[in-house]
Amino acid sequence: MPVNQLPPVAKSFFTFCKKCNADRYHTVLAHTTSKTAKIKCEVCASQKSYSLPKTGSSATGAAKVSRARAGSESARRSSHNAEYEALLNAQESAKEVSYNIKGKFAMNQKINHPKFGVGIVRGVHQDKVEVVFSDEVRNLVHNRE
Ligand SMILES: [Zn+2]
Repeated sequence: MPVNQLPPVAKSFFTFCKKCNADRYHTVLAHTTSKTAKIKCEVCASQKSYSLPKTGSSATGAAKVSRARAGSESARRSSHNAEYEALLNAQESAKEVSYNIKGKFAMNQKINHPKFGVGIVRGVHQDKVEVVFSDEVRNLVHNRE
């Protein structure tokens, strides 16, 4: 089959099946766009969408995607750090309370957790508190009878 054209509906073609982890014949169920089709593996019957391979350098595209991901990860991290610093500064003079699942914690309370370190409560629920620690926000159990 030509590489720039989808195989016709109801015809089979050979392509990789992730579920079988092998090359399998797939039946074309429908064309979803001019470049993508809904296909079904003839062995495991899993359905998936198939896209024509894009022309041009796919390596460049992949590099761009991973850079974009790294960027959003570090942005997320620095906004988390900013929130943590701000909360910690706001509660600078507050007394730290040791974390215990039987304890009952209040909004903006400064908690000292044996494993996660110092955190600030930013949300209180019936049996859980949302605590901002230096690395991430965690939901901790509290008010447990
Ligand atoms: Zn399969």
